[in-house]
Amino acid sequence: MAVERTFSIIKPDATARNLTGAINAMIEQGGLRIVAQKRLCISLPQARKFYAVHKERPFFNDLVDFMVSGPVVVQVLEGDNAIAKYRELMGATDPAKAAPGTIRKAHAKSIQENSVHGSDAPETAVKEIAQFFSDNEIVG
Ligand code: ATP
Ligand code: MG
Repeated sequence: MAVERTFSIIKPDATARNLTGAINAMIEQGGLRIVAQKRLCISLPQARKFYAVHKERPFFNDLVDFMVSGPVVVQVLEGDNAIAKYRELMGATDPAKAAPGTIRKAHAKSIQENSVHGSDAPETAVKEIAQFFSDNEIVG
């Protein structure tokens, strides 16, 4: 298995409930290393760019408003098969459908306020990491 990096966001619903540490513990117990991390407020243009792939979807404006509604924690996670591993650890987009033991099952409030983001493919991981981190901020 290849060592990969994936991009993660702890979303505003989770930072608002002081869940950064609880989610980080699940990430680390799930076998991933947090090799970069910072807390920030995403700007509106940044959020629109980040979710541009969803711009035709009916939930796009609500999603962007939610992502700028409070601080987030952006992260780079590293490990074997990190992209798929983190998707599995996050659970389904809709927490009602998420498997027991997943982050979204444990913490998400709704299909929108679902606590975490994780890249869905190697190409998106590279792009998303580059949107928020420079190389010297990632220490494996
Ligand atoms: P993410 O991209 O955040 O890791 P995901 O890949 O599981 O989540 P996507 O289909 O890429 O889900 O949707 C991106 C985000 O848009 C979701 O995480 C959620 O916050 C929001 N979203 C998705 N579907 C809906 C919906 N039907 N109603 C409201 N918000 C939604
Ligand atoms: Mg997605």
